[in-house]
Amino acid sequence: MTTLSGFDPAPEELTELLARARGLITEDRPRVDGGAELIGALRDARPGEHPRDLDAVVAELDAVLADGVDPTRPGELAYIPGSGLASAAVAELIAAVANRYTGLAGFAPAAVALEAGVLSWLTELFGLGPAAQAVLLSGGSTANLTALVAAREAHAAGAVERGVVYVGTHAHASVRKAARIAGFRPAHVRICPTSDGARLDPEAVRIAIKQDRADGLVPVAVVAAAGTTNAGAVDPLAALADVASDAGVWLHVDAAYGGFFALTDRGRARLAGIERADSITLDPHKSLFLPFGTGALLVRDRGALVRAFAEDADYLRDLEHDGPDGLDAVHGLPQLAELTPELTRAWRGLRLWLPLQLHGVGAFRAALDRALDLAGHAEQVLRAEADLEVVGYPDLSIVTFRVRGDDAAQDAVLARVNADGRVRLSSTVIDGRVTLRLAVLSHRTDRAVVELALELIVAAAREVAGLSGSRG
Ligand SMILES: *Cc1c(COP(=O)(O)O)cnc(C)c1O
Repeated sequence: MTTLSGFDPAPEELTELLARARGLITEDRPRVDGGAELIGALRDARPGEHPRDLDAVVAELDAVLADGVDPTRPGELAYIPGSGLASAAVAELIAAVANRYTGLAGFAPAAVALEAGVLSWLTELFGLGPAAQAVLLSGGSTANLTALVAAREAHAAGAVERGVVYVGTHAHASVRKAARIAGFRPAHVRICPTSDGARLDPEAVRIAIKQDRADGLVPVAVVAAAGTTNAGAVDPLAALADVASDAGVWLHVDAAYGGFFALTDRGRARLAGIERADSITLDPHKSLFLPFGTGALLVRDRGALVRAFAEDADYLRDLEHDGPDGLDAVHGLPQLAELTPELTRAWRGLRLWLPLQLHGVGAFRAALDRALDLAGHAEQVLRAEADLEVVGYPDLSIVTFRVRGDDAAQDAVLARVNADGRVRLSSTVIDGRVTLRLAVLSHRTDRAVVELALELIVAAAREVAGLSGSRG
């Protein structure tokens, strides 16, 4: 029986522990549905008083990891696939054990400076200008929430009950949730129509803002999507920027899924206008392939974050060294605790920094370019198939399509493709009809796995369309 000798393991114990961890993450384990027995045992288990045998603990973790959906597989084409880069996990290990405090620059200036470099890379990538600031948060939902709180303080401080937020019909659910948490009335989240079934109509937003002003309400923010989760559609960002600036309201762009395509030429062209946003949500745990728990918010004006989130705490007076505008007086580094809802925070910067150093930006650019290529290829193949229709057109790496037939036919195709087990698609509802989605994002998704998915889709579509044809 192997047990750890204490909280701070001896070097050889730590080596053993890391070797076991390595086995758990590199093993190519078959999917095994743990079943009700495993789930029940885990749910009913409680930690014991004494250390457990390492082998037994590792075996239990192995069973946990074999169960359920593995979002890191190459064949994951459902929802928004998540990669889980090992280099980011190593960064996480270092950050967690070193446990540097990065909420205020004075505690660990070099650690904050390292993060600040990556943050500036982000704001420069999106051309947000010299007063911009990025902050790393837990995900896209918290980034959207943080943005709406900043917008509220900028345009409706003390008057949130009259504040209005404008979103598209395909806006992510986290935007409505964020508006609700930020104190906006549910009735004041205007769901504005699309111009083509997928993209927010700028003129509809302009009219809604005008009407609300006439009614004595306070328009606060327009929320555009740069890559909807449903269909990967990019709202007309430049036209929405015109509407927002004419009306004097905040423009937030939710680019949680699509933002990092700005690293590619095609993505940059499709995201044109994003540089005029007041704030942008990004999800490095989606399109930068990092582990879950890594979101980012970029704002054009750091001061907006200071006004929304800065508080004084007497017990921090020894270390605050506040300079102007949310920066510390010594090095001009961001005082991250004064720019976000968090005080003590994970040193998330290292999670971005290390992979960018070890792989280079070019590797990310190439992987995202390949995702665009593969989605474009899938679109062509699906368009060429008589039993299938592509719904709308993909701006980025999500292709939506239907088989000839009713909603049940879509479900039947989905079930047949997913039953194969090697690839996984998902479905959504577009214009009231069940629609299938193929989303390419993982850096592990290659040409072969997309070809396999297309073969399975075409075979299933022929079969299902044939069946419904003979019925009709
Ligand atoms: C995933 C997603 C979100 C929510 O982000 P989380 O990281 O899941 O909290 C918000 N908006 C869009 C467009 C997304 O794709």
